[in-house]
Amino acid sequence: MRKPVIAGNWKLYKTTSEALELVNELIPLVKNASGVEIVVAPVFTVLSTVNTALKGTNINLAAQDCFWDEQGAYTGEVSSTMLLDAGCSHVIIGHSERRQFFGETDETVNKKNKAALRAGLTILFCIGETLHEREENQTFTVLERQITDGITGITKDELKNVIIAYEPVWAIGTGKTATDDQAQEAHKFIRGVVAKLYDSESAENIRILYGGSVKPENVKGLMAQKDIDGALVGGASLKADSFAHIVRFSE
Ligand code: PEP
Repeated sequence: MRKPVIAGNWKLYKTTSEALELVNELIPLVKNASGVEIVVAPVFTVLSTVNTALKGTNINLAAQDCFWDEQGAYTGEVSSTMLLDAGCSHVIIGHSERRQFFGETDETVNKKNKAALRAGLTILFCIGETLHEREENQTFTVLERQITDGITGITKDELKNVIIAYEPVWAIGTGKTATDDQAQEAHKFIRGVVAKLYDSESAENIRILYGGSVKPENVKGLMAQKDIDGALVGGASLKADSFAHIVRFSE
């Protein structure tokens, strides 16, 4: 039985006071939500403050990226152990915005995935095709390459702390959601790739989230799909009421 995960990616939004306002509003709205893993991912600078506010709640803390080395002469970077130190249990890796704007490749994503897992973090490993790739019928080829290269060198045991987030790039922040059937088709394919790379037990157990314009209005239909185990939410996670609504999708 896979426990659903609802994760909010706050991207480059929310100062300290805004972040505190958001979590303080969110905590009571989701405190009775059981059977769901709730995660929020603020910017680096507010992680420690948000961590203090989340103590004793059912909300987990994630960062939006991490570097692959633990320490060293890497100006501007933050390592997995530093994220643990700031209170994170999860980290988003390979988000399409990082691939698009910051030169992330399958190889750098793989290095980050391995470093984060070995430090003890759970990873939200993002994959997804662009509109051009979908129109060229490349969706499955791209997804298989991103998964295979992204998790190469990760053991079956480490895979237990991997959550895959399927985020078609054309659906992120655009208001265009993949249909329930399109999303299910991709998720089923992804599970099949995991079965091929590991085994059917690992594939059955791995959580695969959908991301791309998830809102209170479309979450139920997506979550009703057999292979969709949760959502990575951008825009709709910036307001406590809409995010809480998504968290409570089953009510
Ligand atoms: C995201 O940031 O991962 C995302 C899916 O954004 P949005 O929900 O705004 O499309």
